[in-house]
Amino acid sequence: MNDRKAAPDRMEKIVSLCKRRGFIFQSSEIYGGINGFWDYGPLGAELKRNVKELWWKSMTKMRDDVVGLEASIIMHPAIWKASGHVETFADPMSTCKSCKKLIRDDQWWPMMCEQPWVQSLAGLVEPGTDSFQTGDLLKWARGKGKQLAPNLALVRNPEVTISWLAQEVEKGNRPKDARDFYLFLATEQFGATGFITPCPHCGGELTEPRLFNLMLRTNYGPIATDDNLAYLRPETAQAIFVQFKNIVDSSRVKVPFGVGQIGKAFRNEINPRNFTFRSREFEQMELEFFIKPDEVVEKQTGSVAKLAGEGHPGEPQPNWGWELWHRYWVEERMKWYESIGLPRETLEMFSQPKSELAHYAKACVDILFKFPFGTQELEGIAARGNFDLTQHQTHSGKSLEYFDETVKEKYIPHVIEPSAGVDRLLLALICHAYDEEEVTDDKGNKETRVVMRFHPRVAPITVGVFPLLKNKPELVSKAKEVRDLLRPQMNVFYDDAGAIGRRYRRQDEAGTPFGVTIDFDTIGENGPELAETVTLRHRDSMQQERVAISELPRLLLSRLV
Ligand code: ATP
Repeated sequence: MNDRKAAPDRMEKIVSLCKRRGFIFQSSEIYGGINGFWDYGPLGAELKRNVKELWWKSMTKMRDDVVGLEASIIMHPAIWKASGHVETFADPMSTCKSCKKLIRDDQWWPMMCEQPWVQSLAGLVEPGTDSFQTGDLLKWARGKGKQLAPNLALVRNPEVTISWLAQEVEKGNRPKDARDFYLFLATEQFGATGFITPCPHCGGELTEPRLFNLMLRTNYGPIATDDNLAYLRPETAQAIFVQFKNIVDSSRVKVPFGVGQIGKAFRNEINPRNFTFRSREFEQMELEFFIKPDEVVEKQTGSVAKLAGEGHPGEPQPNWGWELWHRYWVEERMKWYESIGLPRETLEMFSQPKSELAHYAKACVDILFKFPFGTQELEGIAARGNFDLTQHQTHSGKSLEYFDETVKEKYIPHVIEPSAGVDRLLLALICHAYDEEEVTDDKGNKETRVVMRFHPRVAPITVGVFPLLKNKPELVSKAKEVRDLLRPQMNVFYDDAGAIGRRYRRQDEAGTPFGVTIDFDTIGENGPELAETVTLRHRDSMQQERVAISELPRLLLSRLV
């Protein structure tokens, strides 16, 4: 799966299965699509619901110390000034002077690596060594280069660029690494321009980076003016901060406590890419967990517990400061990912170095998933101090202090924020579930079985119910009885069309973990001992067992809780 060559191939298969089986469609496809927007089809919608429901259950319903919120998408624009999004929620980006495409600076190199022209050049040279042949470069520039990167200096003016490169190598100024090598190939006259960064798409010259605000704008009210400008929220978290006081006053929660929210967020991403991974409209599942400032913990308990060792720190304790709470949430979140079918070895934890943290943040750990296109972020868990509440208190002029009865003191709570993306998680689940295996059918023919190995908890359909034959009324009515027995408790798909083997395969592709077949034994045609029993087929092993209908609900439910 990590094989670089296999990765694009695997991703292509996944994207095509998603469309074919109705997991994910391009938004507005019949109008040519709209970049960065996606729709979830019948199976995708179920998968998404399951994931959100499992998050909500584990974060709120199964805990005494977390409540929920469902806020509006459009909020007072002053919120985004206070939060810093108007000023700083911007990524540096460059425009290609030739093809006019926009490139986010931090994505330049990953995009370069995916380009056919970069891949074909990489085969010719070993950057950082003397081993490239000017002859090869010239040939490339006149052949493949012309088709793949027509605006690259090396292609437009091969002799000049190559002789400049050769001179520099002579002087000992060799490209330091692969990235550097492409800057050399994009630069014709170093003295006049300095190094040029090539456009990943056409090889042309990229402008200096400029900041670009990622918030999508809209207007509320009948006439669009600057006075009624608003933003589609770029994250769900801010609503939790601005409703902090209402939540404390109405629900009698006591610090430490959390507020969870699931909802849509919008970012005008410059380069939406990697299928749904970076979209312009997506969903987040965010928790703001409010804790006492360390000074208050110390006052109350004598000392703040120190972080020791690795792993989960266990049940929360009154002497926990931000460090232990942060570790606790990182580990809780890892446990949750495992519980829905992403094993630890598919995940990585990345601690952001202090130099990259926002000025107010104390720590941030990202949970990454090994996607076929690279190891990338699913969720960030940040210790944000009391920055957000303080900002909103200052900007709104309303007190957001909390009165703590245990120490008879007012303070602004600090916060730990586990912030996850629903769509990225869905993509991770889909990528992890996708599998192909060679199987032999009844007639001894080999075929490839595509199977989505979803954990039963997230699988869009839990169980397929199949009457062996659709023209046998006793089988059909019994199958419908089984369907109605299971339906109130799980997602059931009833299918009576086609050969049973084909019906199984369709459910394999949908990722349905169980299949129940109602046959002649079930209706007692082969003796009373098998009556009221069915064949239960397990998706992963393809093993079948005989199970009493009355046992089915208990058996299947035991795999879901
Ligand atoms: P990135 O660096 O990838 O742009 P980020 O660090 O800005 O992401 P956060 O602001 O921490 O992301 O948002 C929290 C979560 O929301 C991310 O971990 C991710 O799962 C999800 N998310 C953010 N941007 C997008 C997007 N454009 N498309 C899909 N999910 C997103």
